Amino acid sequence: MNEKRFDEERRRVVKYLESLGYIKSEKVKKALLRVPREEFVPAPYRDLAYVDRPLPIGYGQTISAIHMVAIMTEALDPRPGDKVLEIGTGSGYQAAVLAEIVCRDGYGHVYSIERIPELAEYARRNLERTGYSDCVTVITGDGSRGYPEEAPYDRIIVTAAAPDVPKPLIEQLKDGGRMVIPVGDRWIQRLYIIDKKNGKTVIRRSIECLFVPLIGEFGWKY
Ligand code: SAM
Repeated sequence: MNEKRFDEERRRVVKYLESLGYIKSEKVKKALLRVPREEFVPAPYRDLAYVDRPLPIGYGQTISAIHMVAIMTEALDPRPGDKVLEIGTGSGYQAAVLAEIVCRDGYGHVYSIERIPELAEYARRNLERTGYSDCVTVITGDGSRGYPEEAPYDRIIVTAAAPDVPKPLIEQLKDGGRMVIPVGDRWIQRLYIIDKKNGKTVIRRSIECLFVPLIGEFGWKY
């Protein structure tokens, strides 16, 4: 498929997700229109880049479906200039979508942690090739512990499923900040939207979803 065809496919899927109400804001719409998802999926799946479903990225992991990226980004509500922590870099696609919002009109930054070193390297290459590496730092490690080196964060997004909200992530969230995280068992989870206000957390339980497990000290143990 050529570049022009990918552009058309991208516009088509964004229009579709907008019609379904998954894309609500201009900033999320613009970000999804700008990031070339075909650059974040492995070569054998390139032609399926704009089919709205998760795709394999190796090591038993997936790049999330486009509607899930839209839903989570809308729920997170990142703003230009925000410092964002992502747990579960995978392909780097979600990080690039966040970078479009926090770095384009501001001096924000995205710190993204991936536990599988080969995937962290894959994401770094994808982000470098597509021009997002100045805005996104990929760290290899256990993101269930967060990344205290750069804390506190305005926004935290977890793109793997946790049995509970990891305590270090609550601690590393700024007062006035927001976290979006899927919480539940291995087969079904609910998206939690967590706001921290005056040191207290308020949890809104949103839609049901299905993510690969968050494996680590404050996640699943296997
Ligand atoms: N956001 C990704 C993207 O845009 O391609 C998709 C994320 S994929 C659904 C979940 C990722 O979380 C996998 O790459 C997995 O290896 C990673 N992961 C699982 N547990 C982790 C942990 N404790 N720390 C960091 N990454 C973790």
